[in-house]
Amino acid sequence: LSHLDAQMVEQIMGESMHNFKNVAWEDIAGLESAKSTFLEAIILPLRRPDLFTGVRCPPRGVLLFGPPGTGKTLIAKSIASQAKAKFFSINPSTLTSKWVGEAEKLVKTLFAVAVAHQPSIIFIDEVDSLLSKRSGNENESTLRLKNEFLIHLDGAATNDEHQILVIGATNRPQELDEAVRRRFVRRLYVPLPTKEARQQIIEKILAQVKHSLSSPEINELAELTDGYSGADVDSLCRYASMAPLRSLTNSQMEVIQPHQLPAVTMEDFKKALKVISKSVSPED
Ligand code: ATP
Repeated sequence: LSHLDAQMVEQIMGESMHNFKNVAWEDIAGLESAKSTFLEAIILPLRRPDLFTGVRCPPRGVLLFGPPGTGKTLIAKSIASQAKAKFFSINPSTLTSKWVGEAEKLVKTLFAVAVAHQPSIIFIDEVDSLLSKRSGNENESTLRLKNEFLIHLDGAATNDEHQILVIGATNRPQELDEAVRRRFVRRLYVPLPTKEARQQIIEKILAQVKHSLSSPEINELAELTDGYSGADVDSLCRYASMAPLRSLTNSQMEVIQPHQLPAVTMEDFKKALKVISKSVSPED
């Protein structure tokens, strides 16, 4: 390995391990149909590659699309946890900014590292920004980057020996390069959470703090958050959960014990609803 290669491998491994904690299926509220598709198409084949060969060969490219903050990254992480696969998460902004002119090489290195650690999942968030439609005014290096990707996506798809799954996520699938889109054989829509899913997310977070909300109040909150993404509901709950701390004076803050904190109330949520609104507009 040259110095540059070693640095790249380090960056890839570093980014991948960063913040990666196991995500269980139960941590993802709703999204039932996406989950069952994934179980059959991805998780079982990664667990038992010997059963899923030939015409049963699983797709090697999956595209998750839908509004921001709806759990696309959670799904990818959960698949990696369940399939006991190494998870490589690549953020296009680092790909293109940090490694100007070297991005193409980084892609090559990324796939080589993924093959060496297989079974592996390569997760590319905002894949549209990396592999957008050929706009005609692209520079040489973006084109080379795209072609490099296509080569490796094809390689992953045609080499039965390789257990590499590439998951792309995007909020703007229509921006994606046509040739790239075709490589993502399986495309799954990840929608905004239903009322039931929002309720699940709220309950899960409330279980971590002392609160005084009744079931009908939690139900009401789930209704009031119509149009909120999972990430919005998460922010709302976190904001409301801070209320007991916000109410403390400086001197109380010095001495209070965690168990003495007052409970989070519906009133705190009503205030939070005024601050944290839905982030997704209908056009998204
Ligand atoms: P983006 O398109 O902005 O990258 P995303 O679809 O990948 O967003 P995630 O990063 O998976 O969204 O979700 C952000 C956070 O929102 C999660 O860490 C989680 O706390 C919460 N969240 C979103 N959707 C769900 C869900 N279905 N169940 C539970 N939590 C969720």
